Amino acid sequence: MRLKNIPGSREAIAGSEYVVKWTAADGPVRSGEAAPADTDTADIPDSPKSPAACEAPRGADWAVRGNWHLVFGNKNPIRAEIGMGKGKFIMEQARKNPDINYIGIEKYSSVLLRAVQKQEADRLANVRFIRMEAEYIENVFAENEIDRIYLNFSDPWPKKKNADRRLTSRRFLARYENILRPGGYIEFKTDNTALFDFSLEELREAPHWRVLSVTRDLHTSPLNRGNIMTEYEERFSSNGNRICKYIIERI
Ligand code: SAH
Repeated sequence: MRLKNIPGSREAIAGSEYVVKWTAADGPVRSGEAAPADTDTADIPDSPKSPAACEAPRGADWAVRGNWHLVFGNKNPIRAEIGMGKGKFIMEQARKNPDINYIGIEKYSSVLLRAVQKQEADRLANVRFIRMEAEYIENVFAENEIDRIYLNFSDPWPKKKNADRRLTSRRFLARYENILRPGGYIEFKTDNTALFDFSLEELREAPHWRVLSVTRDLHTSPLNRGNIMTEYEERFSSNGNRICKYIIERI
């Protein structure tokens, strides 16, 4: 998602009780703590890869890791959308399923701000956000802590040299394996057929994943039952693009 930098978005996010901030793993588990100043600089799309895109020092564990039930005050299942965008999908999921906890992960403040604004208006008890680069997801969640992962319209990274950055690459699958409980799902939607083909290919020799469902035209498929459209899905399907989806199980 490419948005102009919105002045003040960082401050708005830092001030929201719904955005979980990094604290060191040996620190207290609570939201509302400011991110370290040195990580709070670049929010510019396409800027060189830098640790500034994430809240925590590179590779550092978060205090919430393994302790998310304390954040939500219950032991309900936790589902995460990685690359959440402006939050329409996750807010609708959360409203429909109050007994499930949702965490939206997004790397850009200017985008995350839109989701935070929705949540500041609705104040759903089962929604939290993190601003971070998904590469460090294992520093935020412990083994088996996540029940389901949603990947919606993930960046395609079309150049082959960037294949490892695709959120459905084997590199990312290996990270998800470490946080998703056995029997948990990944649900992935995209209109990008090249990315979808690649994503299926990555599963071919993946012993820890079982493909449960695949469609290349979600909106005419039985899989569409209960489908919640994302912002990108609305835009691309109204342009006539077919939506692809897979559901895979971590075994
Ligand atoms: N899921 C939304 C947005 C899709 S655009 C929708 O379907 O409408 C992809 C989003 O993922 C962008 O907002 C982008 O900033 C975010 N994103 C891409 N790669 C990411 C990464 N590695 N870590 C965190 N967020 C990422």
